[in-house]
Amino acid sequence: MTDNITLDILTRDPSDERPWAAFAACVGEFGPKFFPQTRADERIAIAICRTCPVQQECLDHAIESNERHGVWGGTTERERRALLMGS
Ligand code: SF4
Repeated sequence: MTDNITLDILTRDPSDERPWAAFAACVGEFGPKFFPQTRADERIAIAICRTCPVQQECLDHAIESNERHGVWGGTTERERRALLMGS
């Protein structure tokens, strides 16, 4: 499935550095939840990530780019720090 998605996106916009973002479940109204100020908002964001077809791509990007703030790829800031410390 990922190969088909990638091919489709690249056909539409081969210059996009994050082509997977076109399929993000957090586009639009959900965006502010991904820099949550409360645990409740954080849980909402993570629940949305669990439905996202590009969760792995998003997490890979966050790790590679050392994204320190917000929810990315279904992980919190604390979880990504733990992943980085374990690698
Ligand atoms: S995994 Fe979560 S933060 Fe990443 S694109 Fe999908 S919904 Fe957005």
